[in-house]
Amino acid sequence: MMLRASINQSVRRFSANTTSPVKCNRLEGRIAIVTASTDGIGFSIAKRLAQEGAKVMISSRKESNVKNAVEELRSEGLQVSGVVCHVGKAEDRKNLIEKTEAEFGGLDILVSNAALNPADGQMFNNTEEVWDKIFDVNVKSTFLLMKESLPLLKRNKSFSPSIITISSSVAYLYYKSLGIYSISKTALLSLTKVSAMELALYGIRVNCIAPGIIKTKFSNKLYDTQEAYDYSMSFISMKRFGMSEEVASVAAFLASDDASYITGETIVASGGISSRL
Ligand code: NAP
Repeated sequence: MMLRASINQSVRRFSANTTSPVKCNRLEGRIAIVTASTDGIGFSIAKRLAQEGAKVMISSRKESNVKNAVEELRSEGLQVSGVVCHVGKAEDRKNLIEKTEAEFGGLDILVSNAALNPADGQMFNNTEEVWDKIFDVNVKSTFLLMKESLPLLKRNKSFSPSIITISSSVAYLYYKSLGIYSISKTALLSLTKVSAMELALYGIRVNCIAPGIIKTKFSNKLYDTQEAYDYSMSFISMKRFGMSEEVASVAAFLASDDASYITGETIVASGGISSRL
């Protein structure tokens, strides 16, 4: 009880007013895909892009989650559709792209947000299978989805297309128990840089967001005991965890023309967790 009260208090104390209505319309007429967008950071990104005028294709592995997320966002008057997509499955990714083109007519913004972390404890206690799973979903699927989206992104003549990858502040530091996951997130920094250099020629910008500890189901184990809470909090200068809306606002900026001269960069949204490699 004490711990939860203290988490909520620390979030409330300094957090941005995430309930205030979004006033920008920077993404009017754009079409976006956000993977893993039925919960957490992905859901908030999808919502924010749609609030700024984009048509957004929602996706994740479970049909019921897709249905619920689409219903919730449509009930707020947002233009969204949904499809099941496990990013590790080639057929699902193909379907995601085809459905986006069929329903919305193209693609301007790709947010590759899905990731997993089945690892347990210290890095050297984990198996090859765990390593492969993490790299398959977190890194390889991001590369493949970007590659498979290129025909639609290159076809785009109206807007400067934007790809956004989601890394993590643990890409930059050692956080015990997140070893292999951290390495996969560091790889995403480089994937972003290399992609940005190769795609600049086509006017496609590629940037990355490295969130700190953001309150979602995924991060729960990073603060669900007093020991975990204290360890996590010791990294954070602002002494509070982040909200998924505070990552979504960065994604909306990067997707918009406000970021028209930015490519190959990573924006860290972490409340001051150290971010130098
Ligand atoms: P989350 O709240 O647990 O949300 C997970 C979402 O991903 C759900 O919509 C889930 O829906 C979907 N999903 C899970 N596996 C998937 C897969 N293989 N293919 C497609 N969808 C999948 O997670 P989150 O905290 O928002 O994390 C989102 C991203 O932010 C991840 O890349 C994570 O590494 C990164 N990140 C998070 C934090 C943090 O503190 N939360 C910090 C840094 C970086 P289904 O179950 O229906 O698939």
